[in-house]
Amino acid sequence: MSDPVKYLLDEEHLPRFWYNINADLPEPPHPVLHPATHQPITPDELGVIFPRAVIEQEMSTERDIEIPQPVREVLRQWRPSPLYRARRLEQALDTPARIFYKYEGVSPSGSHKANTAIAQAFYNKAEGVKRITTETGAGQWGSSLSLAGSMFGLEILVYMVKVSFNQKPYRRAFMESFGARCLASPSDTTECGRTILAENPDNSGSLGIAISEAVELAAQREDTKYALGSVLNHVLLHQTVIGLEAMKQLEMADAYPDMVIGCTGGGSNFAGIAFPFIGAHLRGGPKVRCIAVEPSACPTLTKGLFAYDYGDTARLTPLCKMHTLGSTFVPPGFHAGGLRYHGMAPQVSHLTALGHIDPRSYNQLECFAAGIEFAKAEGILPAPEANHAVRAAIDEAEKCRESGEAKTILFNLSGHGHFDMQAYMDYFAGKLKDLDYAENEVAMALAGLPSVG
Ligand SMILES: *Cc1c(COP(=O)(O)O)cnc(C)c1O
Repeated sequence: MSDPVKYLLDEEHLPRFWYNINADLPEPPHPVLHPATHQPITPDELGVIFPRAVIEQEMSTERDIEIPQPVREVLRQWRPSPLYRARRLEQALDTPARIFYKYEGVSPSGSHKANTAIAQAFYNKAEGVKRITTETGAGQWGSSLSLAGSMFGLEILVYMVKVSFNQKPYRRAFMESFGARCLASPSDTTECGRTILAENPDNSGSLGIAISEAVELAAQREDTKYALGSVLNHVLLHQTVIGLEAMKQLEMADAYPDMVIGCTGGGSNFAGIAFPFIGAHLRGGPKVRCIAVEPSACPTLTKGLFAYDYGDTARLTPLCKMHTLGSTFVPPGFHAGGLRYHGMAPQVSHLTALGHIDPRSYNQLECFAAGIEFAKAEGILPAPEANHAVRAAIDEAEKCRESGEAKTILFNLSGHGHFDMQAYMDYFAGKLKDLDYAENEVAMALAGLPSVG
């Protein structure tokens, strides 16, 4: 076995198809409903905000969906992404476990989100769209879509959650370098933003509000569509390149994982690495334990309800059946901004309800400690979101040390932490605390869930 198990950027190893888990689900997914009528939504209704090709993928049950050649040509700049064997971490932990990690920080925007940004920009451009609106929390998705927009000649307008907009000026500068426009949300450019500011001019924003603003604008103009960086089926589909490559890379290393681990905000990087393995099991292959790791301060899968809910605060989006903390819930301001979302991908929720995914949650301090332990051994400083996956991988490797079992662990290192140094500085200065979500606020938000028959 070579060490590290890293393969050249070889066209042959870049998948030709995305893997659609809808083809293999043991029970069909719950339909997406129209926000007003509560009837299953039609492609025409979704067409107001999304391009047709993306809607087809959203509803498709075809197993293998071809990756268009122009998309592959951009992806091959950094894909296949490297799969590393974490030998130095294994030694530091004195564990018999074999730890592998897929590193998505090699994309130009520093995370896995570029994988779907490129695909979505391509489909919008192909259908004559001129402008894409979107939201961003910590800034990784806005950065990825800005990059994709400049590659395909599209205007990008990003609503960035105000608290992050003020805290992370480098992310904004990154987006503007690619020609995108970035506004603090809530803003005065939309009705929803103006309503919220009238109630409270100091509202620091949330992903739910920023989505409402972006969707409102996209729905108004024919030449403008909306793009989402996580949660929806087509986004998870585009991320399956991660797991498909990992499967091939592990095969070359003569290995197959006993467990696959990813952090979950909206569920896309976790699904990207785990779905190809879950699918193989559903088609008769070996069972792999898939662990979805979320922050204790926003515990969607471990504490939320599996129910129909809106994706945004203003209740403009369709209703999805998913694990949710309620669309009006605003999580406390912990540092893994990419994990502060009230909902979860419907496919991840469905598979969790069916027992194919093990969710778990951690507090932020133990995650930062794990990220630093990892960095000292492997030389890569992870994004605060990715630290959740690292924490779980280390815990599982330590369990192997106790039991003496030589398990194979695969986890997704979804991005690097180079734009998150303030979070690390706060951690070293002892300023970070473990935050609890407010149970009464979740109860209130859940009491407001739409009643769907
Ligand atoms: C956005 C982000 C996440 C969380 O989003 P998912 O859709 O759950 O993957 C995790 N890690 C990084 C680095 C991110 O940028």
